[in-house]
Amino acid sequence: MARLTSQDQEQLRRQLEALKQRTLDELHRRTDPMDALQERVSYEHEVHNNAEDAEEERSEDLRFAEIDIERQRLQEIEGAQRRMTTESYGACIDCGEDIPRERLMAYPTALRCNACQVAWERKRRG
Ligand SMILES: [Zn+2]
Repeated sequence: MARLTSQDQEQLRRQLEALKQRTLDELHRRTDPMDALQERVSYEHEVHNNAEDAEEERSEDLRFAEIDIERQRLQEIEGAQRRMTTESYGACIDCGEDIPRERLMAYPTALRCNACQVAWERKRRG
C-alpha cells in the first residue's frame, strides 16, 4: 500500500472499525431471538387469513435475506481488516495495481481498481 500515508491508513482503519460496529449492531438487532420470538408470539395470537400468512412468510424471507446481506458485509469488512495487517490491502485482487486512494476512502472494503470492478460486474451480469 505504497500510496497510502500512515494517516490514510489510520483513517481507513477507523472507518472499517466503525463500519464493522454498525454492521454488528444491525445484525444483533435483526437476529435478537427475544425480538423475533415476541413478534412471532404476538402474531400467533391474532387471527389471520391466508393472505396475511403468506405476507408474514414473505417478511420472514426478507428478514433472512437482509441478515445474509449484513453477514456478507461483515465478511467484506473483516477481510479488509485482515488484508490491512498483511500489506495486501489496497492492491487490486485482479490486476495487482494500487487501488486509487480516493476509491479506498469512499469504499474501504474495495477489492478491485475501478477498471477491474467494472469488468468484473460486467462478467457477473453475463
Ligand atoms: Zn485492477
